[in-house]
Amino acid sequence: MPSLFKIPVTSVKGVGARKAEYFHKLGIHTAGELIRFYPRTYEDWSTPVKIADSPKNKNCCIKAKIFKVLQPSVIRNNLVIYKLEVTDGEEKMLVTFFNQSYLYEKLRGGGEFLFYGTVKYNGYSIEMTSPSVLEPSDMYIHPIYPQTASLNTKNIEKAVRQALSMLPEKINDPVPEHIREEYDLCGLGYAVRNIHFPESMAALETAKKRLVFDELLVLQLGMARLKGDRLETTAHKIKKDYSKEFWKLLPFKPTNAQQRAVNDCIDDMKNNSYPMNRLVQGDVGSGKTAVAAAVCYTAVKNGSQCAFMAPTEILAEQHFRTLSNIFENTDVKVGLLTGSMKTSMKNAVREEIKNGSLDIVIGTHALISDNVEFASLGLAVTDEQHRFGVGQRAKLIAKGENPHILVMSATPIPRTLALMIFGDLDLSVLDEFPPGRQKIDTFLIDSSKRERAYNFLKKHIDNGQQCYIVCPLVEQNDEIPLISAEEYYKSLEKTVLKDYKKAVLHGKMKASEKDRIMHEFSDGNIDIVIATTVIEVGVDVPNSTVMMIENAERFGLSQLHQLRGRVGRGKCKSYCILVSDNQKESTIERLKVMCNTNDGFKIADEDLKQRGPGEFFGAKQHGLPELKIAALSNVDVIEDAQKAADKILESDPTLSLNEHRGLNFETKRLFASVGSTERLQ
Ligand code: ADP
Ligand code: MG
Repeated sequence: MPSLFKIPVTSVKGVGARKAEYFHKLGIHTAGELIRFYPRTYEDWSTPVKIADSPKNKNCCIKAKIFKVLQPSVIRNNLVIYKLEVTDGEEKMLVTFFNQSYLYEKLRGGGEFLFYGTVKYNGYSIEMTSPSVLEPSDMYIHPIYPQTASLNTKNIEKAVRQALSMLPEKINDPVPEHIREEYDLCGLGYAVRNIHFPESMAALETAKKRLVFDELLVLQLGMARLKGDRLETTAHKIKKDYSKEFWKLLPFKPTNAQQRAVNDCIDDMKNNSYPMNRLVQGDVGSGKTAVAAAVCYTAVKNGSQCAFMAPTEILAEQHFRTLSNIFENTDVKVGLLTGSMKTSMKNAVREEIKNGSLDIVIGTHALISDNVEFASLGLAVTDEQHRFGVGQRAKLIAKGENPHILVMSATPIPRTLALMIFGDLDLSVLDEFPPGRQKIDTFLIDSSKRERAYNFLKKHIDNGQQCYIVCPLVEQNDEIPLISAEEYYKSLEKTVLKDYKKAVLHGKMKASEKDRIMHEFSDGNIDIVIATTVIEVGVDVPNSTVMMIENAERFGLSQLHQLRGRVGRGKCKSYCILVSDNQKESTIERLKVMCNTNDGFKIADEDLKQRGPGEFFGAKQHGLPELKIAALSNVDVIEDAQKAADKILESDPTLSLNEHRGLNFETKRLFASVGSTERLQ
């Protein structure tokens, strides 16, 4: 029998061409993928409670007979209230629902039903409003799927049930038996059946444990194979530390934390035969660029080339300017390579990279394209690493012969997760800011105070400072009535800010145009930049002191923190104004976190708490493949999966043994989503 991952979803009973389209939108093309589409949550209809025992403010299932049907009351044309009394033989309960006449017709005939909802105690009466109602035969744990406009959870449930029936009696389990035994894991067939239709809550836990383990195991196998053998010897062991010489090139004294991080790196490169693999983690503004420059300088002086990859063109340009300035009066040659450069320019730079006349090349993804060849790449630096996919990082590293690796990040990553992403990485933390850094005072206002905020900006510009205004969207859109950057720009013509020099900066602009504006802003020729989030990462203009963020509720906390980090980079006191008309308590609470702390690690924690680890495992956060269930994992499972992966790869590094065929297949399947399968053959 062919694998269910080769059988199209249209072969599942009840899924026709139209439904198949809807499933495709959910990323489901095969019966196998349908089975791997897991419920978001569950409703436990399997163990009804007595009315008298029903919990407060919590959903429960009650099995009861219709006792009395009350007269429907017509409130308005379009609103009818139906009320019924039901009983479980001991206690009575009032059931209320609105407008569902078909349900009323069904219930008024009498009989026994399951009612699922929240019970309220009204004086002496017990009431359930708008419950879900099903037949007693539906007494099982119901899967609830992430539904879409075209597919509700019941449609999905039906299709999944059919797909499960296509599973052969005996499934080829991709996880070898000895591993299943060692980590006490159930069989795959049991796991997929119970993740959808759990026999009991305990069975669900067993199923989850197995599937989380699988996913993490496959992830780690893939990651380990992408990284290859990190303990190979490097051709770029350095002889001499040049950092003291480097610090003299800077207009400021390095902080202790910066010196420590640089010393850590140089120790790695000098004292080990294997390449450095280090993460420098430091909050926005802690001075990571200077650390990278110091390490690059030392590598160059020892005869290596360095690549410095940044996630956006603006950032690459900025690093290019910073490093060009630092190295102006030295013999270190710095170059830039970005996608939007003229072809002739690109060719020239590529030639200089190839013949070794460039020492440090700063760039975007353009650095990893196939036609870039280094004479002798000894150090690969990635800035804001969470923006890059694992495949991209692997490609950069592959441009050299076991080059040293330095990654820099402002996003705190839990240790176990970091281990998974980077393998055996070492960590330096920049836990100190350059002197004179002040807290960025942050305020939350609604749009009625916008005029006052403009006056606040005006005052600072009149003092010779610069400002940012951030708007979440680019173009005006009927469905989402948010203010776009361009519309916003126009609207400022009617305000106190009308006479100031303003410019719009957004993601759809040509890179050269964006760059020109950032240049002008940096040179002080623009007072206010009105921007979308393109300025989020790394932009450094120390003279800007006020950031106003419109529709602040649209941003995640970590993102707001990154944005806010664009101000407060110089000597002057800086401010951040969050504008939101959103009244939701949870939103206000979230935004208040920004007003209460400047500590990026605290904010990241809070973000993690509010958005859940699912977000954290999402591909967007750090270029991992999209995981389906690992968000439910805990540290123990991550560590178990890591151990199991090591053991498997030790005996079979290319996963070519017959007993690992299934794992090999799953690894390729998972990593196909991040486009990095070529190293996994
Ligand atoms: P990030 O860690 O966010 O990448 P940057 O490297 O962009 O931070 O540095 C932020 C600002 O602080 C820059 O303007 C930089 O020149 C300045 N800076 C870095 N280190 C020091 C220092 N030791 N003393 C004073 N200013 C510094
Ligand atoms: Mg930076």
